[in-house]
Amino acid sequence: MKYVTAGTLRLPPRVHFGYGSRAQLSEVLRLHGRWVLAIVDPFLIETPIFRETITRLEADGFHVAVHSDISPELPTASLDAAAAFAREHAPDVILAIGGGSALDAAKLVGLLVTHGGPLSRYYGENLVPGPSLPLVAVPTTAGTGSEVTPVAVVSDPEHEMKVGISSPYLIPTAAIVDPEFTLGAPRSVTAFAGIDALVHAVESYTAARLEPSWDTTLPVFTGRNAFTESVALRAAEHLGSSLAAAVGDPGNRGAREEVAFGSLLAGVAFGATGTHLSHALQYPIGAATKTPHGLGTGLLLPYVLRACLTDADADAEVAERIAAIGGALGSTAATTEARARDAISSIVALNRTIGVPASLQEIGITRRQLPHLAELASRSTRLIAIAPVPAPPALLLDILEHAYTGRSDS
Ligand SMILES: [Zn+2]
Repeated sequence: MKYVTAGTLRLPPRVHFGYGSRAQLSEVLRLHGRWVLAIVDPFLIETPIFRETITRLEADGFHVAVHSDISPELPTASLDAAAAFAREHAPDVILAIGGGSALDAAKLVGLLVTHGGPLSRYYGENLVPGPSLPLVAVPTTAGTGSEVTPVAVVSDPEHEMKVGISSPYLIPTAAIVDPEFTLGAPRSVTAFAGIDALVHAVESYTAARLEPSWDTTLPVFTGRNAFTESVALRAAEHLGSSLAAAVGDPGNRGAREEVAFGSLLAGVAFGATGTHLSHALQYPIGAATKTPHGLGTGLLLPYVLRACLTDADADAEVAERIAAIGGALGSTAATTEARARDAISSIVALNRTIGVPASLQEIGITRRQLPHLAELASRSTRLIAIAPVPAPPALLLDILEHAYTGRSDS
């Protein structure tokens, strides 16, 4: 088998991980100035850890304006309002503290302040013209990896599904991932964000290879990437071993640490490679059912892997890669095929344990909707292009039909 070693890695210049790492915040912010716009999830405002963080920044001489009017779906109008607030305060640097939505909001506010609106100018890939305000990202949930990735997702009333803006210029200037912030996350947030992180790891590791053409503008997401393969597997190991414990016992500091680290590693991996079919399919399903992103990607992943394993066009390498995921999730089976099957059954079991529904029926999808959902998913051409196997609408429909009834084993 011929391997081509090629890769592209784009990351924040600084990434800090660990309990207590939030103490680096002043050091990192100081690189950019004294005037800070903090974009913060509203429910954090009253928490002791947030108050302590802001008090410390003020003691260190920063002027902090706080904007917390963030709605989780990120409607474009709320981002325009946040950008107007930002312009009034003319910050040197944006500090984002919150879940994936707050981090994405901060990316887009920086973009709007620096380059102007409307956001629709930037929908798609590589349409952001240059760097925006510096952004220091502090996630309080473990899942999206937004603190290290080049993408942000918004709800535009003109569009049926959420729309993404991807550009290397959206990568934060620094990421500080302190698991202490995740200790307060509710059970369902921990579960759905955490399983999404596992989907990021698995889809990154199984992404198809796109041959790089070095003489043109590089795509934001590169497909299989020599830098991120071991990172994605490590992410799957951390998440697979600890997500159930973090959901079942929210105060378990060790499990929280593992899940936060796994989520960060998964972000590093998919921020380079991109994700594929579970994500392409979740966007229309999320729009139709108003269910959380991670609930959908987690529900779909076993069916996506089953389809990739059984697809006649799959080469042996696809099975080997899914088997490696099985190994990362604890399988010691002797054959590639058995380890690949174990990958699917471990994800199914994890979903059951943490409360991810097993079928599309359970979240209110009807059989009649499936062809339209497959058609909508097939429009995510960049995601489809890095699927492990060719993914025409017929394959997407096959995945949806299995996911509808809840059969991942046949
Ligand atoms: Zn995701």
